[in-house]
Amino acid sequence: MNLILMGLPGAGKGTQAEKINKKYNIPHISTGDMFRLAIKEGTDLGKKAKEYMDQGALVPDEVTIGIVRERLSKEDCKNGFLLDGFPRTIAQAESLQSLMQDMESSIDYVLHVDVPEEKLVERLTGRRICPTCGATYHIQYNPPKEEGICDNDGSELIQRDDDKPETVKNRLAVNIEQTQPLLDFYQDQGYLVSVDGDREIDEVFRDIQAIIEK
Ligand SMILES: [Zn+2]
Repeated sequence: MNLILMGLPGAGKGTQAEKINKKYNIPHISTGDMFRLAIKEGTDLGKKAKEYMDQGALVPDEVTIGIVRERLSKEDCKNGFLLDGFPRTIAQAESLQSLMQDMESSIDYVLHVDVPEEKLVERLTGRRICPTCGATYHIQYNPPKEEGICDNDGSELIQRDDDKPETVKNRLAVNIEQTQPLLDFYQDQGYLVSVDGDREIDEVFRDIQAIIEK
């Protein structure tokens, strides 16, 4: 089962990826992990990628797709894989398709964990952090016993700048602008399956299972 997982920040993509990985024993491959592995193994492509990254430059697509190829050729991908964070652009999606053809394989589904933007804002702005012990809370989903106070040490909880409404809205807007063309692309190609992500984790996962096992 070859899957691509898509979803905006806060949609619960990581949680679902973990569940898919456990249940179906297919590796969860994020772009960051893929680069780290290639660099650690010191492959030619890993070395090239590192040069760009050390300069703070974007790794060019031909290097990235080469690293994807190396990763997907590994033994643990023989039953499939779950790609997360790749492809990011239409050009990368097209390269991935030719790569799949080369490997005499194909993508089965592009799973889109879909959550309305206003819900994402609610999820992402509700996070509170304890400055003392680092515990994280959510004012709605995981509140401390006493409002605004850490259960562990009584410190006053804070909201990180990253979690403030304006920042969250900007981050979402940038992400929507990047992912919408990809969603359209995979929709046109017939790979896209949207799952309503605005529900309990297990309900969302049940839908994903139904798709995978169809
Ligand atoms: Zn604390």
